[in-house]
Amino acid sequence: MNVTNPATGKVIGEVPEDTPETIAAKLEGARAAQAGWAAVPLEERRARLRGFRNGLVGCKEDLARRLTAEVGKPIRQSWAELDAMPARIDFFLENVGRVMEEETVFRDAGKGLEERVAYEPLGVVANISAWNYPYFVGSNVFVPALLTGNAVLYKPSELASLTGQAIADLMRDAGVTAEVFTPVFGAGAVAAQLLTHPLDGVYFTGSHATGRKVAEAAGRGLMRMQLELGGKDPVYVCEDVDLDQAAPSVAVGAFYNTGQSCCAVERVYVHERIHDAFVEAFVNTVGAFVVGDPTDETAFIGPVTRPAQIEVLEAQVEDARRKGAQVPLGGRRREGPGSWFEPTVVTHVDHRMELMREESFGPVIGIQKVKGDDEALSLMNDTRYGLTAGVYSRDRERARRILSSVRSGSVYWNCCDRVSPRLPWSGRGHSGIGATLGLDGIRAFLQPKAWHLRAPRA
Ligand code: NDP
Repeated sequence: MNVTNPATGKVIGEVPEDTPETIAAKLEGARAAQAGWAAVPLEERRARLRGFRNGLVGCKEDLARRLTAEVGKPIRQSWAELDAMPARIDFFLENVGRVMEEETVFRDAGKGLEERVAYEPLGVVANISAWNYPYFVGSNVFVPALLTGNAVLYKPSELASLTGQAIADLMRDAGVTAEVFTPVFGAGAVAAQLLTHPLDGVYFTGSHATGRKVAEAAGRGLMRMQLELGGKDPVYVCEDVDLDQAAPSVAVGAFYNTGQSCCAVERVYVHERIHDAFVEAFVNTVGAFVVGDPTDETAFIGPVTRPAQIEVLEAQVEDARRKGAQVPLGGRRREGPGSWFEPTVVTHVDHRMELMREESFGPVIGIQKVKGDDEALSLMNDTRYGLTAGVYSRDRERARRILSSVRSGSVYWNCCDRVSPRLPWSGRGHSGIGATLGLDGIRAFLQPKAWHLRAPRA
């Protein structure tokens, strides 16, 4: 399987693709190894995952260059992803013990009765991952899954296969065997093949469309399932903000990683009193973003990683134009090698337009004028997605009131496009099922076992 650099269109590497036979053999190996891994004392499992963490730190520069070469992430943003990894892994290392601790929930000494809850690993789980933040979305699953004693079959996106290979190598170097953490390489068909097997759980990060296929497969196999899917994340900018702070903050939230973040700002609603001034400040900020060679340290916007997404962006902009929108910045693909789309700002939009309804997942944003909080809230909730939502205002109570009524897994006051290892990450509706990160993101890999214990009569 070839790996292509989206900035240049050139093939930069090769990865062997799994077949139905190799997948079956890998699953068998994982099954055979899992009980032994679960029997390794937690302290030792932690030590090996700490070794993996330190390996990432030690190879940061190589890993960042590899990530930038295969997904086109601007190099500063590849460094930032790797720099954030130790804190994420540390959260799991520090908290897995207390989440796995057995507890006595009832005791009646007179009757010699005790009730306890213990937590066991699920067994062998599949981790099917996206390419946009392969270190984040992969490790959110495989680190807690391994720490809690599961074996993992890890299917990186075909677009991030070299990174997937590097992760697997670092695991082996840290003493997590190739059977306990097994990479599976290939495109969607390989993942679909993997899911025909009886697994103990599937943890998926990707689009809503693929998530539905995964849910069907998980339903057929009756396996534990978790879905971290896309979003159409709104931000509402109130009239009381400082534009010099709010406009650049929202612009970065919309265009970081070339707009290819699950929690990228995808819709902006602006109070009518400051709408025109906000648009001007926003367009100035976005117009100053450096677009270009992602290996160059000054680049902020790189190529669109999945070339087919360019057509989605073109269609959304065209649909919006046809229905009356204006495009004060960008709006077109860039000709030449690689897959590039101009940073694009679309105004005078409304919810008849695809741009305001379906995930763009690229460097395109729509800005809509609203009369006030009620209209903003109603538009923010006019979606089947529910990943994140933000309000920019000086007034914390006003933001709290609005955000309490927004249906989404995460809410932001005066910030956006932010993830914390300490907080659960979850989506509502079409944005997913279950949660990664936080303590919930550790429990997700455990099965509670109920112990009913009655002492024999003396
Ligand atoms: P895709 O849905 O295209 O792919 C996700 C993974 O599923 C890939 O490994 C893909 O393989 C695999 N896959 C493809 N077809 C199937 C199938 N039939 N059965 C099982 N697995 C399959 O998403 P992207 O990788 O393009 O990622 C972008 C999407 O992910 C966006 O919608 C984004 O919002 C979302 N996302 C959500 C996050 C969250 O935490 N909520 C975080 C990050 C991204 P291959 O790539 O090799 O085709």
